[in-house]
Amino acid sequence: MNGASAVVIGAGPAGLRAAEVIAQRGIHTTIFEQKASPGRKFLVAGRGGLNITHSEPLEDFATRYDLPARWRGLLRRFSPDDLRGWFKELGVETFVGTSGRVFPRNVRTPMILELWLERLDRLGVDFQVGRRFHQMLGSGPYDLVFQRGTKYHLVTADAVVFALGGASWPQTGSDALWVEEFRRLGVPVSEFVAANVGWERRWSEAFLDVADGKPLKNLQVTCSGRSVKGELMVTEYGLEGGALYQLTRELRKFPQIEVDFKPGLSRAQLEERWRADVDPREGALRLWRMSAAAVALIQEIAQPKTLPQWIAAVKRCRIVFERPRPIEEAISSAGGVPWDQLTDDLMLRSVPGVFCAGEMIDWEAPTGGYLMQGCFVTGTIAGEGVAKWIAKAH
Ligand SMILES: Cc1cc2nc3c(=O)[nH]c(=O)nc-3n(C[C@H](O)[C@H](O)[C@H](O)COP(=O)(O)OP(=O)(O)OC[C@H]3O[C@@H](n4cnc5c(N)ncnc54)[C@H](O)[C@@H]3O)c2cc1C
Repeated sequence: MNGASAVVIGAGPAGLRAAEVIAQRGIHTTIFEQKASPGRKFLVAGRGGLNITHSEPLEDFATRYDLPARWRGLLRRFSPDDLRGWFKELGVETFVGTSGRVFPRNVRTPMILELWLERLDRLGVDFQVGRRFHQMLGSGPYDLVFQRGTKYHLVTADAVVFALGGASWPQTGSDALWVEEFRRLGVPVSEFVAANVGWERRWSEAFLDVADGKPLKNLQVTCSGRSVKGELMVTEYGLEGGALYQLTRELRKFPQIEVDFKPGLSRAQLEERWRADVDPREGALRLWRMSAAAVALIQEIAQPKTLPQWIAAVKRCRIVFERPRPIEEAISSAGGVPWDQLTDDLMLRSVPGVFCAGEMIDWEAPTGGYLMQGCFVTGTIAGEGVAKWIAKAH
């Protein structure tokens, strides 16, 4: 497009997607990445099975994000079906797992990344790895200063997409060191905090002997009046798992939960199933069909003796946490560039022609494919925004 050029900084899923959309519009696009290779966190995400999105209806899908009304609009511009279609075009079939989560079928994440990079190569996207964004000068076109070792060099671009990630797993490159430069440019950035992270609580040796590494399934977990269904996992340091991740926002304000180990049974039904001649622990295991880890947890927390005490602990076991695990260990982070700094096309209001995408924007969602979907949505919108911007300016 008339020799216009765009620069995308950060080669995670959001940046790669933005570059793809821009290059598809015929604009010369270069991606800069500080690590020696692209998509490091994307590859980490794929280690336990890459959960790309979720199959639930869009209305429900949007409610998983911190601002559902905003996300309803964003998701219409690149929906979970669009994302599955994108994978199909790449040659990767997807399937819906039992939990409604969507995964690639029979293709491992390194191969997906390779197919994606080949597509970008065919589109003429230029890759510059091992180059750290340092500074942005000018007022459009922009002079971008990149650092490689002890050397600095300047690149000029008509439009820029920042897709620098959040602040978890810094070893993958998402180190949030860009925050300082954004603040220097006059763009406020909300403090990063851990999301989708485990919570610490001290356990006894005896409990860990039984329960360490064991899942606690089919629970209802409540924090500050909000209840979710899901699983927890006992760890040496405390608890982690999907049910806690869904409650991250509540836990930050009030770090304790109440667990109902038998949400499908009322107190009266638990009592009906009881037999007075059975040892209470045995009864919990056999008559209430609880796992050994769940029974051990109840004993660890509540030390029930009588039947009413057992029933009370099964239906409402309160667990108080000391703190979340460090942000470096979190699956994702909240915080970043606030929405009010961005237009509908994800352009920075105060820096025209400069867009943001992915986890560096201040949003949060639980695990379940919502993070990847959020990165693809915002990458798509920022890429389209760049194309519109350049078309208007040239
Ligand atoms: C263990 C784990 C498992 C996960 N599993 C899933 C999952 O199954 N499903 C899911 O939806 N999500 C999952 N996620 C989350 C998902 O991986 C992230 O939300 C996603 O990678 C964020 O994409 P992004 O493009 O915004 O940022 P990132 O992937 O973090 O990429 C940002 C890039 O910017 C680069 N960068 C940063 N600063 C600079 C700079 N100054 N100069 C140049 N480059 C820079 C970084 O090196 C990095 O490559 C998982 C995350 C983890 C840690």
